[in-house]
Amino acid sequence: MVSRAGIGMTSQRTRIRMVERLRTQGITDEVVLDVMSVVPRHVFVEEALASRAYDDNSLPISFGQTISSPWIVARMSELLRAKNDLDTVLEIGTGCGYQTAVLTQFVRKVYSVERIGPLLTRTRIRLHELQVKNVFLKHADGLLGLAKEAPFSGIIMTAVTTHVPSLLLEQLEIGGRIVFPKGSQEQNLCVIERKSHGYTETVLESVKFVPMLPGVISR
Ligand code: SAH
Repeated sequence: MVSRAGIGMTSQRTRIRMVERLRTQGITDEVVLDVMSVVPRHVFVEEALASRAYDDNSLPISFGQTISSPWIVARMSELLRAKNDLDTVLEIGTGCGYQTAVLTQFVRKVYSVERIGPLLTRTRIRLHELQVKNVFLKHADGLLGLAKEAPFSGIIMTAVTTHVPSLLLEQLEIGGRIVFPKGSQEQNLCVIERKSHGYTETVLESVKFVPMLPGVISR
């Protein structure tokens, strides 16, 4: 992966500092930390916000959406990986594509679905410029899943929902996991694992996400 030309701040040192902070915040998966020390987070935000890209915050992207904070991206990535590289992952909520780009570094093929068309168009260009190849982007309602490409080794949802539709649960392979923010006002990260006999659910840290919404926006 290469950083976008014309943007001055490609500072490797800034990323290393971010990764050191993630360690102190409890992230332990070395693969995730390695990947985040390489992926240029600043190219995923508006140029005016680039100097804040490595701060410990979410930031506005456009269309009322936000790029998740570095800690959220790291935590969801390590929960999804559970110390193993993955074959296929469905991401619901591509947004600016930063989480997507991180995923592509330890997943063979990432399928990412976004409901806001113009947002996805920008992200498509950005990921192409970064030469990210093992990704398939689709403008669609992610709550419907991607039956044609199922089953997935993992599913990650980057917007909050009260429950995972059964249609999505069915698109997970046995042994696979879904990582998502669960709730509405009160929200927690949640991991659902598919076992041969059914599903188990683990509720974790409290978080803050924009809502998962039905339907698509074309312009
Ligand atoms: N990981 C992204 C998060 C963006 S915010 C990033 O860091 O940039 C959540 C995203 O989920 C938004 O882009 C929103 O449009 C999208 N989203 C919400 N509901 C959706 C749905 N039903 N299907 C697909 N995308 C959805």
